[in-house]
Amino acid sequence: MKDVARREMSQEATILVIEDESEIRRFLRATLPAHGFRLHEAATGRDGLAEAAARNPDLILLDLGLPDVEGSEVIRQLRGWTATPIIVLSARDQEQVKVAALDLGADDYVTKPFGVQELLARMRTALRHASRSADVAEPLFELGDLTVDLDRRHVRVAAQEVHLTPIEYKLLTTLIRHAGKVMTHRQLLKEVWGPLHIEEGHYLRVYMRQLRNKLEQNPAHPRYLVTELGVGYRLRME
Ligand code: CA
Repeated sequence: MKDVARREMSQEATILVIEDESEIRRFLRATLPAHGFRLHEAATGRDGLAEAAARNPDLILLDLGLPDVEGSEVIRQLRGWTATPIIVLSARDQEQVKVAALDLGADDYVTKPFGVQELLARMRTALRHASRSADVAEPLFELGDLTVDLDRRHVRVAAQEVHLTPIEYKLLTTLIRHAGKVMTHRQLLKEVWGPLHIEEGHYLRVYMRQLRNKLEQNPAHPRYLVTELGVGYRLRME
């Protein structure tokens, strides 16, 4: 894990893209090396799985619409032996597929067509999480005017103490643990309420509204607790 962190800092992380559209592979070939990433390519799911095993990349970019193997099957097989971050490349109208991919263990997604800045931000978040997961969590979380003392369970907005209910606090700290990454409704319900409640989407809506009312200056246009339409929520770090 330390190795990944060092490679990220020295900007030499190895990326594997599994994508049948040659235009997208060409775009990545033209942009990623300039940002210090080494790129390997595969055009089918089967080649992708072989390349992943051979190269052991630091991060995988995976198209969900491959000609030979379902993207979800590729994720399932990868997750059988590696925790390497996977960012899914998906089409605009693929909400269900995207959610299934995230629930299977993909780390994040970008929707086509995507810009290089958006992709780089997602890649950095995923690489950071991968390198940090072995370390102890920072006791103090700061984001804009929001401060959370995870040892003492204190939450402040603009230096004002905010009182959260135990569920609100658990929802917030779950998002903090995955800061910057999208969490599906199912993942949040499972982590906060437990595996018996993964269908209770209304719990999440109610508590997210309460949390936004307490933490956001304008709850209708949240800065931190953002909705990923049809997918879930993300604690926005940029
Ligand atoms: Ca495709």
